[in-house]
Amino acid sequence: MFFELSAEQQALRQKVIDFCARECPPDFETSLDQSGAFPGDLYRKMADYGLLGISFPAEYGGTGGDIMDIVLIAEQLAGNSFTAVYMYLVNVVFAGSIILNCGSDAQKKEYLPKLLKGELQFSFALTEPEAGSDARSIKTSAKLQGDRFLINGTKYWTSGATVSDYIITVTITGPQTDSSKAMSIFIVPAGSQGLSITPIPKLAGNAYPSCEVKYRDVSVGREHILGGPEWLNNGLLQLFRTAEYERICVAASCLGGAETILRECTAFAKNRQQFGKPIIKFQAIQHALADMATQIEAMRWMTYHAAWMKSAGKDCFKEICMAKLFCSETLNDIARKGMQIFGGRGYSMEYRMQRYLRESYLSLYAGGTSEIQKNVIARFL
Ligand SMILES: Cc1cc2nc3c(=O)[nH]c(=O)nc-3n(C[C@H](O)[C@H](O)[C@H](O)COP(=O)(O)OP(=O)(O)OC[C@H]3O[C@@H](n4cnc5c(N)ncnc54)[C@H](O)[C@@H]3O)c2cc1C
Repeated sequence: MFFELSAEQQALRQKVIDFCARECPPDFETSLDQSGAFPGDLYRKMADYGLLGISFPAEYGGTGGDIMDIVLIAEQLAGNSFTAVYMYLVNVVFAGSIILNCGSDAQKKEYLPKLLKGELQFSFALTEPEAGSDARSIKTSAKLQGDRFLINGTKYWTSGATVSDYIITVTITGPQTDSSKAMSIFIVPAGSQGLSITPIPKLAGNAYPSCEVKYRDVSVGREHILGGPEWLNNGLLQLFRTAEYERICVAASCLGGAETILRECTAFAKNRQQFGKPIIKFQAIQHALADMATQIEAMRWMTYHAAWMKSAGKDCFKEICMAKLFCSETLNDIARKGMQIFGGRGYSMEYRMQRYLRESYLSLYAGGTSEIQKNVIARFL
């Protein structure tokens, strides 16, 4: 067993830390949180800094690497900017990996180089108003008329839809009696006629809007089917292939967020004086910090271990779901502890702790809720 990051992995981590110090310092996210304004150039800056191509093959403009590298990037971005990590997860981890793993050669050549250069953005539309955890019950349909498909339906929570160039859309194309043979995924140009996109006001992260997307006779050709026409009705298999990437990276982003909360709580506790001494001198505060630090170690090793299993080609869906479950629940717990350590200041909009708590809730749903992770884990027992 070897528990150290390699020299290359340490260098990558430092590179992301340097990027964040330059482009998204601590108050950057606070101002996005207050304004709700989308930071148009941030994604391009990540590309220019060489972050987007990591883990993608050189033939598409990537610089190689594996899932552990993506985990390290997600961890550090999340420790600095909720918006940055959210954009990274949607574009690179979800859209990038689904196109790389399931796209046709022509689609990979067309989309990946531009995605990795920061020239194209994607969003992903699976969830619907009446179909969340039960993704197989989606109703958005794509019906063949002549040689084009007409897409009709409504998607909900599509993150980044207002700012993306393409919406990767999961539809029903086959008989719904057998959901494993009924879904197809289309790469839909966001400028298509018949699309209307409306942001949903959220608890946090409004600078990267999550949207209701309505499709009214949106017309796309067969070449827009992810993987090409031969993948018609095989979308569910494509979804399964990418769930691991999404969940492990949500776990990694929770780890990064928790590390920041612990760092800020420790600094605050050393500084804040009550009863004539810094509150860190009180054992209750020390124990809360010690619990947080211990929880973070567990988050780190569950996440890194699952990523290591994935990059070693081992079956690891159970371990990934465990890491996602544990890290998202623990981040939320750590954020609540942070609110307690900050006392009334935790409740003040002038401090970041309230934002960390608001942000922490997303990980409980993104990539599937905690209950759904438990359902999956239980199947392996
Ligand atoms: C900010 C935000 C951004 C998002 N971005 C995207 C996106 O970009 N693209 C996208 O497609 N989706 C996105 N989602 C949707 C997200 O994936 C769903 O919220 C999630 O899958 C849960 O679905 P739901 O919200 O409809 O909850 P529901 O499925 O209605 O669940 C409600 C409750 O019931 C529980 N439950 C449901 N079924 C079971 C079961 N079988 N066993 C036990 N408990 C169960 C759930 O765990 C939950 O506690 C986003 C969500 C949010 C909040």
